[in-house]
Amino acid sequence: ASHKETLGFQTEVKQLLNLMIHSLYSNKEIFLRELISNAADAADKLRFEALTDDALYEGDSTLRIRLSYDKEKRTITITDNGIGMGRQEVVDNIGTIAKSGTRAFLEALSGDQAKDAHLIGQFGVGFYSAFIVADKVVLETRRAGVGSEHGVCWESRGEGDYTIETIEKAPRGTEVTLHLREGEEEFLDGWRLRHIVTKYSDHIDLPIEMKQESGGDKEGEQEEWEQINKATALWTLPKSEIKEEEYQAFYKHVAHDFEDPLAWTHNHVEGKLEYTSLLFIPSRAPFDLWDRDRMHGIKLYVQRVFIMDDAEQLMPRYLRFVRGVVDSNDLPLNISREILQNNRIIDSIRAGSVKKVLGLLEDMAKRDSQKYQSFWKEFGQVMKEGPGEDPNNREQIARLLRFASTYHDSAEQTVSLADYLSRMKEGQEKIYYITADSFLAAKSSPHLEVFRKKGVEVLLLSDRVDEWLAASLPEFEGKPLQSVTKGELDLGNLEDEEDKQQQKEVEENFKGLVDRVQKSLGDKVKEVRVTHRLTDSPACLVVEQHDMSGYLERLLKEAGQ
Ligand code: ADP
Ligand code: MG
Repeated sequence: ASHKETLGFQTEVKQLLNLMIHSLYSNKEIFLRELISNAADAADKLRFEALTDDALYEGDSTLRIRLSYDKEKRTITITDNGIGMGRQEVVDNIGTIAKSGTRAFLEALSGDQAKDAHLIGQFGVGFYSAFIVADKVVLETRRAGVGSEHGVCWESRGEGDYTIETIEKAPRGTEVTLHLREGEEEFLDGWRLRHIVTKYSDHIDLPIEMKQESGGDKEGEQEEWEQINKATALWTLPKSEIKEEEYQAFYKHVAHDFEDPLAWTHNHVEGKLEYTSLLFIPSRAPFDLWDRDRMHGIKLYVQRVFIMDDAEQLMPRYLRFVRGVVDSNDLPLNISREILQNNRIIDSIRAGSVKKVLGLLEDMAKRDSQKYQSFWKEFGQVMKEGPGEDPNNREQIARLLRFASTYHDSAEQTVSLADYLSRMKEGQEKIYYITADSFLAAKSSPHLEVFRKKGVEVLLLSDRVDEWLAASLPEFEGKPLQSVTKGELDLGNLEDEEDKQQQKEVEENFKGLVDRVQKSLGDKVKEVRVTHRLTDSPACLVVEQHDMSGYLERLLKEAGQ
């Protein structure tokens, strides 16, 4: 009744396996980080489910991960006593890639090994990384709380199909055995394995154990299991006790990233609310940054018990690139996603965390503008969603924004609103900007002629999100933002009396022409008028002050509005 089946991987899985084996080759030791992180997740899940059903512990609530190797059989085995899986769960979790972004991921691949490795890490195809070093992987598992006859054995050579079979398995949890490929003997070495574990998994809040190295040549007698990692949750330690490398390694663990983070902020908050946050800013944007629904940044813990991933209530969307951990002392342990919504404690933790991230960025901008510039390159477009999404922090976000402008005439976004204010002409009351589909279109717009002539700087906005930004940022430090393509051109006090007199005369002289043009264009335009905004071009189209700009109009049309 073991009911052994052979099933095929999804096509995407096959593709992915192939790719991974080749592109991750120079980072192959990460298979261990991924498998240990799965084992730790399984322990977290058991702890969480056991909060409401103590029987799941089956009398043994000491959770741990064990790592062993066998030189003769050429195997490495990772064993956990976490939640385990039922047969259907194995099929769903291991045989398919349930994540919706698989295809998008495959499309994002560049063929450049270093870049693709980075993507794979972020995509979190963790389990399959076993096939980088193994040509056969066997997974045996039993879900906590069910009888030993409900064990499951999954086996695959990573070549298109796998078998699945019901087995007898007494200990709950999961055991993954890797049969190493020819040439991967370096991993059959206790010290090498210990080194990798401490490198990536030192601060997993769970003991990882290995057999003591006996020293003699006869192995397998009465060696003791010993703990090889620190097993203290890093964020619980005082800041002064944490080394820079430890923060970096912890980041790689929570974010599944290969690169060091750009910056982080670690806070133990006391007082009315007690919580700890450890928040990281990655060096590079993930491939799915544009998927506004993919929130996977923050892990929520309550009193060091893992509660959930992707706690989207903890970070607004415009900070969706932030990674890290929040650990609350005030939330109830049995909190659910539903309770998290509109929860006052969560709301204040979120407000506090947002402040910390914005403060961190502001600090970076002040101290190290080059570093800030590299942040802006990766995440600037997302930050521009901020003023619209988070009006409470509008001022602070506005200080973090960077733009291209006619001052440098370069596509690189380096001009802050403060820079702009400091260069305003005497009598200038507005911050002028132009939006267009591309930087070049913005830069060469005829609308800019008069501004260039008068030496007035104009911000050149050409990101998709800019129209939305401009609509949600009416002013900065008391100076209104004004589109140069909208309404009557009003240069405020920048026009002197003489100019105005001259303009009146010109208008009188051209009245006849304007009437004729108006007649021949008829309904195609709202109004024809003499303009003073051009110096070289004969004519241009403008929209009324309160009308939608041409670009936004097109955007809405595209969206079927
Ligand atoms: P991720 O961890 O990002 O979900 P993985 O490929 O690492 O992706 O794992 C896929 C899924 O397989 C996990 O989400 C989990 O449901 C299941 N899984 C993997 N390893 C274990 C394990 N040791 N115990 C229980 N479930 C596991
Ligand atoms: Mg994983």
